Amino acid sequence: MKTIGLLGGMSWESTLGYYRAINEGVKQRLGGLHSAKIAMYSVDFEPIEKLQHAGDWKGTAKLLTEAAKNIEAAGADFLLICTNTMHKVAPEIEAAIEIPLLHIADATAEALVREGIHTVGLLGTAFTMEQDFYKGRLINKYGLQVLVPGKKDREIVHKVIYQELCLGNIKAESKAEYLRIIDTLATQGAEAVILGCTEIGMLVSQADTKVRLFDTTAIHAEKAVEYAI
Ligand code: GLU
Repeated sequence: MKTIGLLGGMSWESTLGYYRAINEGVKQRLGGLHSAKIAMYSVDFEPIEKLQHAGDWKGTAKLLTEAAKNIEAAGADFLLICTNTMHKVAPEIEAAIEIPLLHIADATAEALVREGIHTVGLLGTAFTMEQDFYKGRLINKYGLQVLVPGKKDREIVHKVIYQELCLGNIKAESKAEYLRIIDTLATQGAEAVILGCTEIGMLVSQADTKVRLFDTTAIHAEKAVEYAI
């Protein structure tokens, strides 16, 4: 079994989900007392969030590149960045390490393509919904059509992530808003919706809606288990 490198802490709430899902995946496949071999570096998220919102992506790349090098030095065979948003600086991180990076958008797109989905809605931070590093990869590399919510709804989705979910606050009214936005995307033609932020699975799950959901945390963790074994 390979050692999985986790670059976590963005936020730690979602890294808990990765840790559990990866260990459960290994247990399910190997049985007994088997558990995942993991080398994790969990960052302090506050300074990173400040740099993101100031547009200082170079600053975030510097911090995350250092963390990734530490994970490699700790013996990881490959790396997961446990956040969709910070894949914005995935090229810089990849260039600084020798071990492979399992890109969260690739894992997600592969799952969508496997299920025959062509048009998909995307929920995530404003960075993920609006910029090209993520959406562009889904469109250009996998030929997917990607729908995002309108401006007001994008603001709601973004705000709930940073002001509630990353702090571990789960609110019924925010869940209702997310479900409304998911329904709107489906009405506009989305065959499924990507939960493209690693905390969203804490708020909504497949049991809450008829619209098919693709939870990036679960998909990314599953990919890591497959790759490790
Ligand atoms: N975990 C989130 C994501 O998947 C948001 C936190 C961050 O900005 O990294 O995008």
